[in-house]
Amino acid sequence: MATPLSHLAVPLALTAALGPDLVPPGLMILAIACALLPDLDALGLWLGIPYEHPFGHRGFTHSLPFAVALAAAGSLLAPAAGAQPAVAFWVLLVSAASHGLLDAMTNGGLGIAFFSPFSHRRHFLPWRVIEVSPLRPSALFSRRGLRVLRSEMRWVWMPCVVLALVGLALRGMFA
Ligand SMILES: [Zn+2]
Repeated sequence: MATPLSHLAVPLALTAALGPDLVPPGLMILAIACALLPDLDALGLWLGIPYEHPFGHRGFTHSLPFAVALAAAGSLLAPAAGAQPAVAFWVLLVSAASHGLLDAMTNGGLGIAFFSPFSHRRHFLPWRVIEVSPLRPSALFSRRGLRVLRSEMRWVWMPCVVLALVGLALRGMFA
């Protein structure tokens, strides 16, 4: 995985870029949940599910079909969150799918089962520029942890800040 902190970057950037009319706080919270939820499969490692198993880490919960299902389920909550269901669907889909895509850009672990449950083959993207995060959170407070955070700053947070600023500027121009 990338660190859980960096999986927050995409939903936060979308929220800032699209603005509170399209992404009210309730939808932002759902988007954050969608971006973090795929790593619940790391619990499987404690339960004895092997990493390479279809339900192992970076398996089904990191796939695109799971992201679509999560976004569809989440968009049912859109009216309660004060959002339009169609907007909610796309915001949640991008947030959920970004998790697997970011993990597929890390330089360690097994690839992502993007097409699970239809295919359990694991994939990486061609650009594996993000330093993989240790699975043990305590290991982040080390020299390696600093290297991980520096690479996520560069490859995740910087592009997300740019996306947020472009969205803010466009909204300012057309407001
Ligand atoms: Zn992950």
